[in-house]
Amino acid sequence: MQGVQAKQLFGAKDAGSRQSPLPYGSYAKGCAAGSVALPETGPTWQAMRLSRNRNWGHPETIDYIRSLSAKAAQQPGWAGLYIGDISQPRGGPMLTGHRSHQIGLDIDIWMLPPKRLDLSRQDRENISSISMRRSNGAYVNDSWTRAHHEVLKAAASDPRTARIFVFPGAKVQMCNDEKGDRSWLRKIRPWWGHHYHFHVRLSCPRGASGCVNQDPPPAGDGCADAEQWVRNILNPPPPDPNAPKPKPRRELQMADLPRQCINVLQSP
Ligand SMILES: [Zn+2]
Repeated sequence: MQGVQAKQLFGAKDAGSRQSPLPYGSYAKGCAAGSVALPETGPTWQAMRLSRNRNWGHPETIDYIRSLSAKAAQQPGWAGLYIGDISQPRGGPMLTGHRSHQIGLDIDIWMLPPKRLDLSRQDRENISSISMRRSNGAYVNDSWTRAHHEVLKAAASDPRTARIFVFPGAKVQMCNDEKGDRSWLRKIRPWWGHHYHFHVRLSCPRGASGCVNQDPPPAGDGCADAEQWVRNILNPPPPDPNAPKPKPRRELQMADLPRQCINVLQSP
């Protein structure tokens, strides 16, 4: 496997490995043993873009989606959740798209409130989510509702959640609207993109010793940081002349991944 890009190998697998469920490595450099598929349709969710075959994750991830989508279904106008990419059947780097989503613990959840959960396979290829942002992400637009706030709050309040990525204007909106407990806001992290979907990142499951957590977010609700991010969108600071040039990214080889990822690939 010397010299072969890991994404070619992982991208070619169409089912999970018959191993105990375990993530190996970190969100953007790892793989996942024993992943299970999110059922394409459940009582309160549908998996979208089935052709990508990225509805695979750790059993905790699948359980999280069951429970969060049941809560979402209690919101007015929401039948549940439309679920975007989780991971490939054995995790790992992908041929297209994400850098993270490699260990079965990242979930993209559409911002589009599901009106119905009987979409055909073809519908799920054709329908698109909707953007929630205006002014380049500094603010939410008219599609944003209190229900979005409640769904993200429920998502962040689950103890399994490590962080949630969403565009800065949404974070600031939730900071302004939350009049009760604010502790969950700490896990809501402003990020580029993420206005058609939000991205839930779960912590490593208990006992998964080969799984590498990210450092926890800084203490506090993070609202001042988000407000600064918004000011920088509206009034971009001049470029720093001393900023280091971004290093070109090298494609991940198998040798870059945890050694267990070879077994994950080769396992039946
Ligand atoms: Zn994502």
